[in-house]
Amino acid sequence: MKMPKSKRRFCPKCKNYTEQKVEMAKVTGKRGSLSHGSIQRARKRGQGRGAGNKGKWGSKPAISKFKRTGAKISKKTAFKYTCKVCNKATQQSQGFRTKKVEFV
Ligand SMILES: [Zn+2]
Repeated sequence: MKMPKSKRRFCPKCKNYTEQKVEMAKVTGKRGSLSHGSIQRARKRGQGRGAGNKGKWGSKPAISKFKRTGAKISKKTAFKYTCKVCNKATQQSQGFRTKKVEFV
């Protein structure tokens, strides 16, 4: 889809409609695997025992939905709107699926 580089939009800080810059928000904070050391420490504290992984430790689920890589060809948008007046940024509340975003 085509998206304008700037858009007139409501700014909650200015409480008014202002010109805002549109860009794609960076997806950060990808979750890493829990290190072996922290699992060992949990065992010493008496945690992480029993059946299953208790949502955190030990065994991993047999089939993860994240294993199905490339199942979908579209991705959800996450637009970041930066107000040109107060320079505050807000993020799109509800993303939608699209194959490609083009800023024009
Ligand atoms: Zn503003």
